[in-house]
Amino acid sequence: MRRKLVAGNWKMNGTSADLAQIEALAEAHTGALSEIMIAPPATLLHRAYEHTKSGPITLGAQDCHKCASGAHTGDISADMLLDAGTSYVILGHSERRADHDEHNEDVRAKARAALSAGLRVIICMGEELEEREADNTLDIIGGQLAGSVPDDITGETLVIAYEPIWAIGTGKVPSIEQISEVHDSIRKRLEHRFGPQIARSIRLLYGGSVKPANAAEIFAIQNVDGALVGGASLMAADFSPIIKALDAS
Ligand code: PEP
Repeated sequence: MRRKLVAGNWKMNGTSADLAQIEALAEAHTGALSEIMIAPPATLLHRAYEHTKSGPITLGAQDCHKCASGAHTGDISADMLLDAGTSYVILGHSERRADHDEHNEDVRAKARAALSAGLRVIICMGEELEEREADNTLDIIGGQLAGSVPDDITGETLVIAYEPIWAIGTGKVPSIEQISEVHDSIRKRLEHRFGPQIARSIRLLYGGSVKPANAAEIFAIQNVDGALVGGASLMAADFSPIIKALDAS
């Protein structure tokens, strides 16, 4: 069975004072049933590792370069992330796709680099509001899935996050039916491409304005195996009830 996963994406937030939030979560969730991942900014990874190495939290990064090393000023390789104590890397987040002009082929190349270094990847995909309104969501997601996910994945190494762009940081959340439809369609496409056994073991996260108040309802949806959480992952007091809701689902 798939182990549930709740992943916190701190984005460009957090300095050393915020390590206390990670410490508080680690203490509060020692017996968590779900896997808990936090992706602080790269500057905090080494120190965050000191608070997480004895569990239950695993560390993630928010991006990596597609090359293993070299002349890429300001960039960070997958090997460097692994060396800092990271187990996961989030790739293809809509903010990276928009701010850094990342396309599916870039995300796929980064995923290959991360997998070769021994990291697990959380590959994000999601539609714009206009694409949803034009009834193109499933095609858009299908294209992102085909283009961003490399062939050499396993159920262990790949996690998919469905994150409608219009729901990120806006407080707007798709209906239960809309989330369910997209997650079912992702599972079917994964089955078609990788076969039923691998497809059944890949975790599918929902992301976009997940909060303590809506988490339980979202986690009750079949084919939702957890969440990728932005704003509500910054403070332990907000993230903790979401972790508890996933444990209880
Ligand atoms: C995200 O950026 O991945 C995200 C889901 O953000 P938020 O939870 O703040 O909508």
